[in-house]
Amino acid sequence: MVSEKADLKKGKKMDVVAPSTYSTRYFGEDVPKYVMSEEGMPAKAAYQLIHDELNLDGNPSLNLASFNTTWMEPEARQLIMENLNKNFIDHDEYPQSAEIEKRVVNMLARLFNAPEAKSFVGANTVGSSEAIMLGLLAHKWTWKNRQKSRGRPTNKPNIVMGGDVHTVWDKFARYFDVEPRIIPLKPGKYTIDVKDVEKLIDENTICVGAIFGTTFTGGIDPIEKINNLLVKVKKKKGWDIPIHVDGASGAFILPFTNPKMKWDFRLPHVKSINASGHKFGLTYPGCGWVVFRDTKDMPDDIVFKVNYLGGEMPTFTLNFSRGSAMLIAQYYNLLRLGKKGYRRIIKTIMGNAQYLARKLSACGRFNMVSSAEYIPVITVQMKKGAKFSVFDISAKLRERGWIVPAYTLPPNAESVAILRIVVKENFSRDMVELFYNDLMNACKALDKQKPMKAPVTKKGKKKDNIC
Ligand SMILES: *Cc1c(COP(=O)(O)O)cnc(C)c1O
Repeated sequence: MVSEKADLKKGKKMDVVAPSTYSTRYFGEDVPKYVMSEEGMPAKAAYQLIHDELNLDGNPSLNLASFNTTWMEPEARQLIMENLNKNFIDHDEYPQSAEIEKRVVNMLARLFNAPEAKSFVGANTVGSSEAIMLGLLAHKWTWKNRQKSRGRPTNKPNIVMGGDVHTVWDKFARYFDVEPRIIPLKPGKYTIDVKDVEKLIDENTICVGAIFGTTFTGGIDPIEKINNLLVKVKKKKGWDIPIHVDGASGAFILPFTNPKMKWDFRLPHVKSINASGHKFGLTYPGCGWVVFRDTKDMPDDIVFKVNYLGGEMPTFTLNFSRGSAMLIAQYYNLLRLGKKGYRRIIKTIMGNAQYLARKLSACGRFNMVSSAEYIPVITVQMKKGAKFSVFDISAKLRERGWIVPAYTLPPNAESVAILRIVVKENFSRDMVELFYNDLMNACKALDKQKPMKAPVTKKGKKKDNIC
């Protein structure tokens, strides 16, 4: 038996004369996966092994499932690389990163039409999920303080929202012990009605959630109507219930496509808005925003005051250490593009999405559930009597590299199965055409596919179809 030591020595010798990285021993042996090995390996070998393994991931450019940005300019990438080694939370060590957060919060508050103030409050987060948690926590605290000051109970907070919310809303309710009052969906109705909201609110409602661009169909909740209801309720019953708008996708779209539509701080009960910088803020994953209407809407109890910066920028986050690269990349986009640049890009995205929606509608195979009316999301359902399902199409498209999810809708619309396509900046008209042709070919192939039958033996007995 060769000793381990001798083996290692032999291996090392071999590596010295290896003509290429691939002929070093790391490529002829198992790679440590679940147990850390004693010895490491050369940087080139480790890089190549991991690089090659990740080729099995999907191609982000063909990923029509994700809302997340998959392309940024080289200059943005350069800034990201330059700032990868900065911990955002160290405000005194990296005061300019903190200053940039403040600038972006101010830009967004104004983009969302907040009443003019000296300094707006909000925070950069990992994504909309953290931003939503922070917004809702603030409202829970405000509600608690109000109840306390009136000598009312503070043990039964509830939150009113639709079944169209993203999972993070349910997470918030469970993690922070707030009763979720969920308005169910039903086939044909994928957002909420103001009447449903009216039935569910009471003095213990910390907040009403309204979605601007739902994850499921891209639909929108009637925010202005909910606001008007809450104005009335406040007058009549004294319950001052805020709205948190989940603008994960919509908040970076509506200001550029439909500036007249009131969904934001122009409505007095909208007290906080979240936006995903990494969705249509056009920044790579790891960037979200929560913005408050007013300093009053962010209770002091949950605010971490950065007084060594002059006390102007209160911040609060759920986690501590985090990179500042994506925050900087977001600022790059805002500087580089300006409103005109965003308008132009969003217009192109919406144009391509609506073009694809028209083609899908015209091809006659689908019922359109949504056609990129507000955000560039298209969802389709199979027509009645179709021989295959949206799940079959999703699987078939994967053969060409396209990632298009198929799923069923939340309660009580579980019987509806849809295929969803999210159009992003790098999905050009040319790509739309390529995708559409592949989709039609996938359907044709599925038309021809006969259900598999087990081969029959001479005696007429079925043989196991094992290969
Ligand atoms: C994506 C999304 C979220 C979650 O946001 P992240 O930025 O991924 O954390 C929440 N709500 C809606 C409507 C979304 O589309």
